[in-house]
Amino acid sequence: MPTPQPDNQTQSLDFENRRLRQKLAELTEEARQSEETFRRCHQRELLLMGAEDLPQLLQALTVGLQRSFRLTAISLVLPDPNHELRHLLANSGNFPCDSDQLFFCDHPTDFSPIYGSLRRSRLGPYLGEEHGRLFPGRDLIRSVAMLPMTRHNQLVGILNLGSQDPNRFTRHHATDFLDRLATIGAVCLESAANREHLVISGLTDALTGMHNRRYLEKRLSEEIARSRRYNQPLCCLFIDADHFKRVNDLHGHAIGDLVLRETSLRIGECLRASDVATRYGGEEFALLLPQTDPGEAFKIAERIRTRVAREPVSLEQGTELTISVSIGISSLNARGGEEPAKTLLHDADAALYEAKRLGRNRTVKPVQIDA
Ligand code: GH3
Ligand code: MG
Ligand code: MG
Repeated sequence: MPTPQPDNQTQSLDFENRRLRQKLAELTEEARQSEETFRRCHQRELLLMGAEDLPQLLQALTVGLQRSFRLTAISLVLPDPNHELRHLLANSGNFPCDSDQLFFCDHPTDFSPIYGSLRRSRLGPYLGEEHGRLFPGRDLIRSVAMLPMTRHNQLVGILNLGSQDPNRFTRHHATDFLDRLATIGAVCLESAANREHLVISGLTDALTGMHNRRYLEKRLSEEIARSRRYNQPLCCLFIDADHFKRVNDLHGHAIGDLVLRETSLRIGECLRASDVATRYGGEEFALLLPQTDPGEAFKIAERIRTRVAREPVSLEQGTELTISVSIGISSLNARGGEEPAKTLLHDADAALYEAKRLGRNRTVKPVQIDA
């Protein structure tokens, strides 16, 4: 007896069935792959979150992620205009700041102009002129992912992933996992830097041994209260090293640090025991001079200015470097107001700005003295 032939309807159902089974197999594979991707991403996040201190975190962000992503190259660019991160690292051991995976810069755009417009992870082919600086000496790279790490709308780092495979990072890839990794990296970076700060800084500046800005803010209110209670004058000096960026650019960060330390020593030599000297940040110092009127404050400021400029700073191997500072003075009694501390700092800053505008290496008194 001949075998009955399936009718058309049975044939199409059979076909549909096979199609559905194939689709199901594809979806299962996709789900497995997503799960695998998710698992790997989760592991990378744990790697960053598990870092116990700043050096460990930077290690995880570079060496750790390179291994985990199996990348040809990775680099991390960190904007660090006040050299804060570098000092924290110097204080927490011998972390190599000048590796070919970790770069510090004043502004992200100094490093690469494309960083200026980087808001989300950017994936695409390797272009020598755009990406060369990110992966020095690595000409095998064919595709690149740049992950901006932002905190409070500020770019705090850029993670650059480089692969030999031209299809590894393309504009068509989804970036959600990478964006998320960068966000977690940024949070970890902030919290590691904060922890490091708490440990080493307190109220003292690690580089110069002077008091720091937090201390100044604490003392400001005390000194203002005292000055008002006893009707005594109080002056504030803002001192800023002139063209200090050039010192770093020409001689390097370590010499820049040496010059800052020497400047702080010279400032200290000109002060009295009751004066409050602080490193306000970067290459800027703020001083409080209790029981000092603007005329006396001017004399002290000039003593500091000439002390700094008179003698060059000795660098290694007999070389010398002449530096100068500009100084702005403000006086508490010159102006009243609701927020005396803020006004005192603001006026000193404005006078300093004027000293810079007039050509640097000079002291500018508060306008009120001349009146
Ligand atoms: P100006 O005369 O107008 O003040 O010019 P400047 O170059 O001194 O000012 P600018 O603000 O452009 O540059 C200050 C530089 O100080 C930039 C920053 O890299 C450097 N800097 C800040 N903190 C430190 C530090 O702790 N160590 C070193 N080596 N450099 C620092
Ligand atoms: Mg300066
Ligand atoms: Mg400055």
